[in-house]
Amino acid sequence: MDRDILIAPGWIIPVEPHDQVLEHHALVVRAGRIETLAPVAEAARAHPDAERVDLPGEVLIPGLVNAHTHAAMNLFRGLADDLPLEQWLARHIWPAESRWVSPEFVRDGTRHAIAEMLLGGVTCFSDMYFFPDQVARTAAECGIRSLVGLIVIDFASPWARDIGEYLAKGAALHDEYRNHPLVRTGFAPHAPYSVPDEALARIATVAEELDLQIVMHVNETAAEVERSLEERHERPLERLQRLGLLSPRLMAVHLTQLLDREIEQLAHHGVNAIHCPESNLKLASGFCPVQALKRAGINVALGTDGAASNNDLDMFGEMRTAALIAKAVSGDSSALAAGEVLRMATIDGARALAMSELIGSLVPGKAADMVAVDLGGLHTQPVYDPLSQLVYAAGRGDVTHVWVAGRRLVRDRRLTLLDAGAIVNRSAAWRARIRAADRDPRR
Ligand SMILES: [Zn+2]
Repeated sequence: MDRDILIAPGWIIPVEPHDQVLEHHALVVRAGRIETLAPVAEAARAHPDAERVDLPGEVLIPGLVNAHTHAAMNLFRGLADDLPLEQWLARHIWPAESRWVSPEFVRDGTRHAIAEMLLGGVTCFSDMYFFPDQVARTAAECGIRSLVGLIVIDFASPWARDIGEYLAKGAALHDEYRNHPLVRTGFAPHAPYSVPDEALARIATVAEELDLQIVMHVNETAAEVERSLEERHERPLERLQRLGLLSPRLMAVHLTQLLDREIEQLAHHGVNAIHCPESNLKLASGFCPVQALKRAGINVALGTDGAASNNDLDMFGEMRTAALIAKAVSGDSSALAAGEVLRMATIDGARALAMSELIGSLVPGKAADMVAVDLGGLHTQPVYDPLSQLVYAAGRGDVTHVWVAGRRLVRDRRLTLLDAGAIVNRSAAWRARIRAADRDPRR
């Protein structure tokens, strides 16, 4: 068996209990799980043979949970910017995807995204993309934890021809990863407007049978709500309720267009909201009423969305943006305090992914998914309150060490399993191919 690890940082923020900051404490890891949190001397006495990791001036927090992304889209970062969502999607992203997306593309893009996320303190991500088999395989190889979305969308792609094939391939992949220690699967119907009624009803039933989460873009823009009213004479959430989709299984991403009664509806059904503030800002989609959702008792997690609409997978940036726009939108500077935002990026994300029994806080028995952040830099000194510093002053460049299930995947700001240089070279090769084709009039 591996040696125990004893980590003695400047501070530990376990996230549960809320807002607790421990000083002079150590955390002991045994066989990939958190064994104990105790005063340093006591932990050292009880675990004299442990490998000791002293991190003075650093704060240890639970690994960040990126509750929504499209990892492979890292290869489209910066391809089409400064456009309205519908145009961005229909004229640029979907055509590029139909031309370029392949198993190799998804493997390379996903590996790039995972490297970026690990270096930025993300230990678990929820993904939605084509070739989820490649996402699952790549995530498993890289040692990161994931909820791999079994995508369903009403058009043919290189991954599947029709709804029937999307569902069948998804079910087969779920079966393949049923007992994997790091990879879980969930349904990922793209959006209410891109998946027909029968398929949505079927997904609700099968998710219940297989005990799976369902991640879906919901009410991202005003235009999609208007179109639903015109074409179907109902708002998207009325339709989802009619089809049995509203439940604690649902991770509803974006939610920038909500009536007061819809907030009550979401709360009543225990739906999880996934807030992607930077994507919403960049695509001018609107503002998710986070304060109102939280007041109604709705679990709100944080996601970066894909690199084509953000353009980074930086959960530190997302935490800070979420905190700042919540204040501006609600007109209340006490809205989304630092501790609350950190919970959204950790335990509330874990809850949305139905993984809170395993991750999201530094509690004995949970998996040792942890991040050390250096608060010794000029831009993070002096430290009055490490929690506040994490959200308002620190950045992902301050992440020094990252563990997933007790395995150190980032050591002294460097990836231990992945070769960042090789990843960058492969992505540059993809960019060259995509650019060359863009210029070729025969394409
Ligand atoms: Zn998305």
